[in-house]
Amino acid sequence: MDCETFKDVVDRLAEEHEAEPRRTEPWEEVVMTILSQNTADENRDRAYDALVKEYETPDEILNAPEDRLRELIAPAGLANSKASYLKNAARHVVEERGGDTEWIREEPPDDVHDELTSIKGVGHKTADVILLFAADADYCPVDTHVDRVTGRLGVAPDMSPAKTREKLLEYRDDCGIDLRKAHVALISHGRATCHARSPECGECVVENVCEKYGVEE
Ligand code: SF4
Repeated sequence: MDCETFKDVVDRLAEEHEAEPRRTEPWEEVVMTILSQNTADENRDRAYDALVKEYETPDEILNAPEDRLRELIAPAGLANSKASYLKNAARHVVEERGGDTEWIREEPPDDVHDELTSIKGVGHKTADVILLFAADADYCPVDTHVDRVTGRLGVAPDMSPAKTREKLLEYRDDCGIDLRKAHVALISHGRATCHARSPECGECVVENVCEKYGVEE
């Protein structure tokens, strides 16, 4: 898809769905994003609320008994892995950054991305979510909705999430696409219209440029 067409798609989807991204504090977002891996938002929120009643700061989480962490975050699933990832992130912040997380907002986003992904349990998508929501950085985390909608539209056809991420960064750098706006627009469209099964192509505001109009999956 060429630059002008993608820009127009983003504008039309943003106008149609009128969604706003959430804004969070850096450490809050690190914890929320680790908890949200492979689960629904409601489960993440239940786990987060239970966790922060007992352990909130990086220092508190680093020093918390790991079995208690697992109990508290159980509603989010994969508690063994996630407790370990939370400990890894807390250890990094405490030992490498003196317990402070403002660097996530203040340092160059590409450097922050590299540092975050050096923590075991923080992949590209998790780092991009943290950068987008906590630092208002121009990234588009590739979740299942973004991957599906960009694939069908022909923005990033037949690509892995990692390749889709690279393609979206190219659109940002080469075409001036605002990935913050694109992220909200694409996710909203995936949830409301371009469902995984039986997308509502007849109701779609970008059907005239979609490569998969009328797809049935
Ligand atoms: S035309 Fe259908 S497949 Fe294409 S973006 Fe719209 S809803 Fe999705």
